Amino acid sequence: MIKHNVPAAADLYGHWFIVSQGKIWLRSVDAAPPLCRYDQLPEFLDGTEPLCLLGAIDGVDCYLLNYTDRPEAEEQWHSARVLLQQSAAIFEHAARACQVALFLQTHRYCGQCGSSMHLVNWELAALCHKCGHRCYPRINPCVLIAVVNDKNQLLLARSARHKTGFFSILAGFVESAETLEQAAVREVKEEVGIDITNLRYMGSQPWPFPHSLMTAFIADYKSGELVCQPDEIEEAHWYDLDQLPEVPMVATLSGQVIQYIAKGGR
Ligand SMILES: [Zn+2]
Repeated sequence: MIKHNVPAAADLYGHWFIVSQGKIWLRSVDAAPPLCRYDQLPEFLDGTEPLCLLGAIDGVDCYLLNYTDRPEAEEQWHSARVLLQQSAAIFEHAARACQVALFLQTHRYCGQCGSSMHLVNWELAALCHKCGHRCYPRINPCVLIAVVNDKNQLLLARSARHKTGFFSILAGFVESAETLEQAAVREVKEEVGIDITNLRYMGSQPWPFPHSLMTAFIADYKSGELVCQPDEIEEAHWYDLDQLPEVPMVATLSGQVIQYIAKGGR
């Protein structure tokens, strides 16, 4: 369980996830977060930063240090995305650190009455003592859908956000009161105009940009012609598995699902 307001001590040893304004501090772009004692941390920290215990990796505690200013040395503040090249456990704790930091930063005041919020002692929640409004860290579920057809082809699309030549499986946010499966069916219909069937759940991955939870499905093509949604999807095509274009790296859930299908998984 995540514990906030952990007291700092010079000899506190752990993995340190120093987060400010959505970015994480790293000694260099290819470095893991510092693994050291509290008193060996960078000098710009002044000891007043709130400390949260996020969990542990192989018995070594992982801490969030929530730093509110971003000091000089911009080149040492990175998107947690760069930690996809580290171990899955490091990325998972970085994702947690970024999301908890964002929660603390955006829940200082009550969204209902505007009073100051206070952190609850026994769980990670912010509570308004005036009106009783209570908030938990926000998590936005997303579905990734890999559609395959009976010619053993995979549907890949390029969204307006992606560079030319880079394709991925379809993705979208789950709407209020929708199941993951309903969201998958709706997103595919909206984005490329086809109907799917026979959804198979593949897994999930926290995605702290800023607070998503990716879930993935493989689905079979059922009917319809490919028609791309304007403004959202630039192009979408059926690809033979031995002729895939540039796709997301395997550290991402979409990359893992594409690799699974390319190796014959259905
Ligand atoms: Zn309130």
